[in-house]
Amino acid sequence: MRLKHLGFTIASILTTIAVGLFSSYAMAANQCSRIFVSEMSNHEPLAEIKNLQMTHVEFLDFLSARKGQTLEPAELSHWIQRAEKATTEYFENAGIQFTRESVVHEGIDFNGVKIPRLAYDVYKIVESKQEGSPNALFFNGVLKNSKLKSLSLIYDPFLSIRQAGVSGYFLNSPHQIWFSWNSLVGRRWGTGDTLRHEVQHAFEYQKIREGRPTLASFQFIGKEKREEAYSDFMSLDEIETHLRDVRFLKNIVPRLEKSAHLESWQSLNTYRRNAAKDDIARLKSLISRAKVALAEIEANPNASLNHESGDQNVSTFFLSNPHYKLAAFIAKAGEPPPTPAFVKDRVHWAQERIQQIEKEIQLLEANL
Ligand SMILES: [Zn+2]
Repeated sequence: MRLKHLGFTIASILTTIAVGLFSSYAMAANQCSRIFVSEMSNHEPLAEIKNLQMTHVEFLDFLSARKGQTLEPAELSHWIQRAEKATTEYFENAGIQFTRESVVHEGIDFNGVKIPRLAYDVYKIVESKQEGSPNALFFNGVLKNSKLKSLSLIYDPFLSIRQAGVSGYFLNSPHQIWFSWNSLVGRRWGTGDTLRHEVQHAFEYQKIREGRPTLASFQFIGKEKREEAYSDFMSLDEIETHLRDVRFLKNIVPRLEKSAHLESWQSLNTYRRNAAKDDIARLKSLISRAKVALAEIEANPNASLNHESGDQNVSTFFLSNPHYKLAAFIAKAGEPPPTPAFVKDRVHWAQERIQQIEKEIQLLEANL
């Protein structure tokens, strides 16, 4: 689980905005491919993305004014229609093509507001322009990537309402990335890149399916949920995905409107620097826990098969670990069960990969 609070001001774009939470949750997760690094061209349809953002920010305001109350479907229809209009206008102007599917969520409790029933459309991205909008370019890259053939990209305008604070997640089975409006907005303004984070989870998971080493092979379920991020569930590829988050915040910022004045740049840069610091702190905490867990597996590398693996492309093996309710090693399906020597070998690979990442963090930190 990744949670990041966003509350910054870009004076020339909007007056003060306090967009909910940028976050991401994923069950499982290479080098940044050129195709995903948007050139930060200024061809994003700005009016439409601002409208998309304002629609949801105003909806959040509306919800916070109704704390402790129950919202009936009739009260929500206006917001659902607005979100639908803002979404289709944005996608159409950015050259992003989609198919629609209706969904219903029941029994939502969003920060003290009860929503018994929320029915609306989600959007599956099916085709995207190769140039112009950084978001369109990104979708084009994912859709054309041979490693991600079976992956579906699904835009859920109310994701961060039905799962408070979540802006995206990756599922291995069905093979999907779900993302919310703030993923699109964050990528454009340079405040965070949930999409790239989730796609990295997909890449890492793909490595398991191909029998290649990846940090995603090691997963842990905690004994209890604590304040600390990823205390209840930790897949070690969160280290890879959080590294992408920091890299994004250190990348060149997308160009804002020509009228952007110094103050807004300063606010954005301050926000990005602080977010990068937070991400690095989280990354270091993940790494220190990963090191302990890996050393424990190295000392006891016996793996036993779990016959109830959810994804037929992979097999899950249990490992014993004193600190977790469940520790697992995930491997390509159809292979012989991993021997202790094989598990140890993958532990060593993971330890080396973590060392490389630590070196990169040092460099990133030195330039904050
Ligand atoms: Zn993640």
